[in-house]
Amino acid sequence: MIPFGRPPRSTAALAALIAGAFVIAAPAPILAQTSAQTSAQPQTAPEAAARALHERLLVLDTHLDTPANLVKPGWSILDRHSATEDGSQVDYPRMVEGGLDGGWWAVYSAQGPLTPEATAASLAVAQARIAAIRALATDHPDKFGLALRAADAAPIAASGRRVVFISMENAYPLTGRPDQVQAFYDQGLRMISLVHFANNELADSATDPAGPRWHGLSPAGRRMAAQANRLGMVIDASHASDDVFDQLIAYSATPIILSHSGPRDVYDHPRNIDDARLRRLAASGGVIQINALGAYLKALPETPERTAALAALRQEFGPAPARTPEQNAAYQTRMRALNQQHPPAQADFEDFIAHLLHALAVVGPRHVGVGADWDGGGGVSGMNDVSALPRITERLLAEGYSEDDLAAIWSGNALRLLKQAEDYAASLK
Ligand SMILES: [Zn+2]
Repeated sequence: MIPFGRPPRSTAALAALIAGAFVIAAPAPILAQTSAQTSAQPQTAPEAAARALHERLLVLDTHLDTPANLVKPGWSILDRHSATEDGSQVDYPRMVEGGLDGGWWAVYSAQGPLTPEATAASLAVAQARIAAIRALATDHPDKFGLALRAADAAPIAASGRRVVFISMENAYPLTGRPDQVQAFYDQGLRMISLVHFANNELADSATDPAGPRWHGLSPAGRRMAAQANRLGMVIDASHASDDVFDQLIAYSATPIILSHSGPRDVYDHPRNIDDARLRRLAASGGVIQINALGAYLKALPETPERTAALAALRQEFGPAPARTPEQNAAYQTRMRALNQQHPPAQADFEDFIAHLLHALAVVGPRHVGVGADWDGGGGVSGMNDVSALPRITERLLAEGYSEDDLAAIWSGNALRLLKQAEDYAASLK
């Protein structure tokens, strides 16, 4: 049986210690232009102070879907792109502009059919994806550093490089392959989620229209969670159903993370989590990282034209799990065109801040962080790419949060969880 979750041993004290350690002792770079701050609008004193603090802090995002861009022919992480041109939100120049020191780069797998052939095909894609993430550090060793332990992050950032932790969104490719869970760990995987938009062989999704299949984790999912604990990986419950969340809190040997989620009491959506569960997450030592994906932040109005175009497109291509990779690529291209013709309504920066402040009010700054879902659907008007991240620091300072709080929010909390996962794995040896 998997042990019950560890009690939070003076989590606040530990967090304060860790947060204090994760301030980067590097000079603040020359103020860069950001979408929040242009040279045409000189900074006010509070803006300048916030910017200086933002640069001092270790700023990490726990859910970067940017690896999907890394494998696009001709797309380079070193070039400055723009969200309006190619839809991308993260690259090296914009990370520098926005003071983003790095984060968890996701090996994402779309949920495919539950057949051995489809699972094997998705494993091959995931293997290519983790290779592309690792190549950030091997191809550009002066700009990126692979982080394998919580303690690796601060020195990498202090040396002026961006931090590359590796996470997995949807463990579908690893179904029935404990050897591959180990192989991905050996390549640097340190955070893992079991399920995405649809139920799979491991766990129920929060958003499967068919409803629950396992009423939580499947036996295989429970075994995989236990293996993740033994190896020293953080378990991520974003996209999982409430039952899965409850069972992970109960069974995981170390605190779990919601790498990109939001509070349901602000916007009632199955991808979000209710306040009672948020409190249980915090009581067990876990962390919620706030998402910036508009459709999870508030109800967005759709025009009849857009609704009709979306329905026609979905009718033409059928449900995602039934599509081939080629059909999926064609669907994405058509979806981009549709978005240009009938732009979706957008949530704005204040909608994101409402989720962040609510979570902070409910569980406090030692249990909240940021996982905006960059390059995976995240981004709001006023914060469309990572160059705008200093706005969050500025806003939290204005709300009265301290430098220690911000150090915890921006990285200390997520790193505390990884350290606990590492310590648990080491205690078994
Ligand atoms: Zn996601």
